Amino acid sequence: MVKCYYCNREAVYSRPYEKKPLCLAHFNKSFINRVKRTISKFKMLQPHDKVAIGLSGGKDSVVLLHVLSKLMRNFPRSKLIAVTIDEGIRGYREESLEIAIRHAEELGVEHNIFSFEEFFGQGLDDLLVTLENKQGDRKGACAYCGILRRRALNEAALRVGANKLATAHNLDDEAQTVLMNMLRGDLGRFGRNDYEPVFKHEKFVPRIKPFMLTPEPEIVLYAVFNGLQYQEMPCPHAVEADRGVIRDMLQMYLERNPGALFNLVRMGAELSELLKQQERKERPLKECKICGNPTAGEICKVCAVLYEAGELDFKTKIDT
Ligand SMILES: [Zn+2]
Ligand SMILES: [Zn+2]
Repeated sequence: MVKCYYCNREAVYSRPYEKKPLCLAHFNKSFINRVKRTISKFKMLQPHDKVAIGLSGGKDSVVLLHVLSKLMRNFPRSKLIAVTIDEGIRGYREESLEIAIRHAEELGVEHNIFSFEEFFGQGLDDLLVTLENKQGDRKGACAYCGILRRRALNEAALRVGANKLATAHNLDDEAQTVLMNMLRGDLGRFGRNDYEPVFKHEKFVPRIKPFMLTPEPEIVLYAVFNGLQYQEMPCPHAVEADRGVIRDMLQMYLERNPGALFNLVRMGAELSELLKQQERKERPLKECKICGNPTAGEICKVCAVLYEAGELDFKTKIDT
């Protein structure tokens, strides 16, 4: 039997980048401590915060809900509110909705469910069909869904009166994003990625990512070790994502250098900081000519997608 590095109990896991075998209790403890350190390093939480957490029912968001509801007790008069977005993906969302509802109930966390349909006029499945019929061809489903989900989560956070939006992006997601931005040669994106939540625009709720330094396999282990049920079925559209290629690439490389994900994310955060210092003169944020949300261009990506799909009455839906 392999013993825990810190005590006499049997080890259940050894991190490839650290080589310290951990027992169940010490794994849990160091898991929570890392999230705590991430939160304080990037000043993610303050007393009085009203934090909306995007709760999809997948492993990351379920574990984040449990961990945040525990950690936020240290922030006086703060409040956690779960929001779930029903994208309208048939045969997939039903199960995860049920799981999300159960976890929020168990923890006594207020929970609100919103849908693409109420925000954008159509659910994702229908929207994809509309787009295909209109132009005979479309981008991958995740490209549209990602754009709309981000806006829907922001909208949901605004509606529940949150001043921060917590998403469950983990170290692997974050490292993939950094690498993807580099492969696209898109330096500007690093400057737009805020690691510390900063207020920028009344229509934009600052994001926090308390799992950005937590490796994905450890989130799965935390869920399993602590008996947290989550939706295991992957999204039926996920095969269309090009993120998968980047993930496989990184996975291969990790065997040589198990700390590489941390290096990538650290560099992303440093680049973002550097770019911000350089940009202190502050280019004013532009607002979308159609919906008024902050955007890098003239018209935001959400309005571009909805325009493509011919959903022209969506503006009223977003505004009301
Ligand atoms: Zn131990
Ligand atoms: Zn817009």
